[in-house]
Amino acid sequence: MVIDTHCHLADEAYDPDRPEVLSRAWAAGLVRIVAIGESPATAERALVLATAEPRISVAAGVHPHHAGEWSDDVRRWLEATLRRPEVVAAGEMGLDYHYDHAPRDTQRSAFEAQLALARTAGKAAVIHAREADDDVAAILRSHPDVPAVLHSFSSGPRLLRAGLDLRHYVSFSGMVTFKNWHLDQAILDTPLDRILVETDGPYLAPVPHRGRRNEPAFVVRVAERIAAVRGLPVGELMAATAANAARVFGFPSL
Ligand SMILES: [Zn+2]
Repeated sequence: MVIDTHCHLADEAYDPDRPEVLSRAWAAGLVRIVAIGESPATAERALVLATAEPRISVAAGVHPHHAGEWSDDVRRWLEATLRRPEVVAAGEMGLDYHYDHAPRDTQRSAFEAQLALARTAGKAAVIHAREADDDVAAILRSHPDVPAVLHSFSSGPRLLRAGLDLRHYVSFSGMVTFKNWHLDQAILDTPLDRILVETDGPYLAPVPHRGRRNEPAFVVRVAERIAAVRGLPVGELMAATAANAARVFGFPSL
């Protein structure tokens, strides 16, 4: 029993064989997948998937790469979309100062506007942070009542501490299986009732699939690595992370 809390399931990478991808996921023991809509177009595609398959939930928002597209129309779309029951979170949203695809002040205002909408809707926020730890921490501190997920965590200890102090959740991806992963301390420092697991598919496939397309079934590799770091049976780690996902995203309890 495990949940992939972050997969870009509407991505065209899955268009050739999405039914087989989903069959492999359920066969691997997944009970739910959160399909990430990182733009209005992908969120609408994810909603079509969720309508056809009740084990798929959706996060809808505007990724920092697309922050330049934030507008009053997009705000109205997100406000309405967050009311839909299949939509369990706003996002992914956040700040990416590595790629800087949108100006940083534009990224910050789109991020804050989405947090405000998540708060109004009573839904969680899925956060992308890259080379922007201190600004992400400051913005999260100014929106303390939105439950947040630090997705594909690979940030520094200050953002980890800020997130945990705010009672947020930390989601680990296939990066934890990479040879150059050096943040086992973050896995150990995150309380068991705050850890989530994800693939971030189609990106970041875990070892031994690294370099190929990632898919939800591979979240088992992520869970195995985290269980090993923490010295826990993998079943126990999976059950804890599934319960955490149910809590933060408001799934019916398992
Ligand atoms: Zn993502």
